[in-house]
Amino acid sequence: MLNKISISDLNLRGKRVFCRVDFNVPLDEDQKISDDTRIVAALPTIRHILSQGGKLILASHLGRPKGKVQAKMSLAPVAPYLSELLNVKVTMAPDCIGEQVESIVEKMEDGDVVLLENLRFHIGEEKNDPEFCAQLAKLADLYVNDAFGTAHRAHASTEGITHLLNPAAAGFLIDKELKYLGQALDEPQRPFVAILGGAKVSDKITVINQLLEKVDALLIGGGMAYTFLQAQGINIGTSLIEKDQTQLASELLNKARANNVKLLLPDDHIVAPTFDRNASATTCDNNNFPIDQMGLDIGPQTIQKYTEQLVSAATVVWNGPMGVFEFPAFANGTFKIAEALANSAAISIIGGGDSVAAVNRAGLNDKMTHISTGGGASLEFLEGKILPGIAALTNK
Ligand code: AMP
Repeated sequence: MLNKISISDLNLRGKRVFCRVDFNVPLDEDQKISDDTRIVAALPTIRHILSQGGKLILASHLGRPKGKVQAKMSLAPVAPYLSELLNVKVTMAPDCIGEQVESIVEKMEDGDVVLLENLRFHIGEEKNDPEFCAQLAKLADLYVNDAFGTAHRAHASTEGITHLLNPAAAGFLIDKELKYLGQALDEPQRPFVAILGGAKVSDKITVINQLLEKVDALLIGGGMAYTFLQAQGINIGTSLIEKDQTQLASELLNKARANNVKLLLPDDHIVAPTFDRNASATTCDNNNFPIDQMGLDIGPQTIQKYTEQLVSAATVVWNGPMGVFEFPAFANGTFKIAEALANSAAISIIGGGDSVAAVNRAGLNDKMTHISTGGGASLEFLEGKILPGIAALTNK
């Protein structure tokens, strides 16, 4: 999956380049872009194509219109926004396929930019419909994918089209994702530590299983820690528990032992009587967990123990918060881990929506080596799954 042609290998002059980007940006009620991170992230690839004299056709989805035209999910607000960032005219196409779009593309000169309308206004996009793929492919000479966030989906614009446009290359964003995530899994600098958190064990079983083959230490926090603690016979009060997963949690603990992986669980907790922003928070440890309270964050001893692992680590992958970080009273564990990681000399790779949000909120994004642009895609990558949108790109 790592040996893919990169955009920097291509001669783009005079070529119509179909570039799949992730412009799935949040829009407020006035259709204003409220967070432009994803647009800004695509700029290096966009600028490269333009500076090389390509004719740039940008394609993205926005939201979940499910095959119907929905005005509030139009990409139209992105065209003037991007135009301002680039200082270049960006033509908004009325659709992503069809005669009108073909005639706009026909008239493009080198260095022109056209933004296609939301791909998911057509049902063929998510269905990877061959006819829809053919209509998209008709618009261009070659293909670049810079949308890592959708690379785990075999859609028309991420997979189907690559069978019709050759070469199909990785943009700079995907290149970077492959470099960091790929290196972490294939030849990590050691000690290699993974931090996993979030609500449920069941969502993370595959990734735990895979990481137990690769890491030196696995630090577990968040709601999923409680199923592991209960599997060890520790009283966890009314904490989140997946009863049907305790057997599996035991097996994973055994696997860690067999593979010589240090699997660490919380020793202490911030607990509260209810799952509530204003619930009164107290600290307890594994020996005195109150039967009528739930664990909503890791406690100070655990923060200390996990921080020590991060100080000596050479590579760290983090996915999922250490507690209910949306509530300030239970956000400390997650933020302290983010700080420890920011202060560590390790290669730090943050994957997954909530951990990225926590790092951004702590203002520590500049201190991390790599922040993945795709939550689901990065998790599937770490699970060892083949991402269809990456596999489909042309081999070097
Ligand atoms: P995930 O999507 O699986 O990464 O889970 C993220 C969610 O897990 C966040 O919304 C957190 O509030 C939640 N979470 C983290 N720790 C706990 C906990 N101890 N109990 C319940 N939910 C938690």
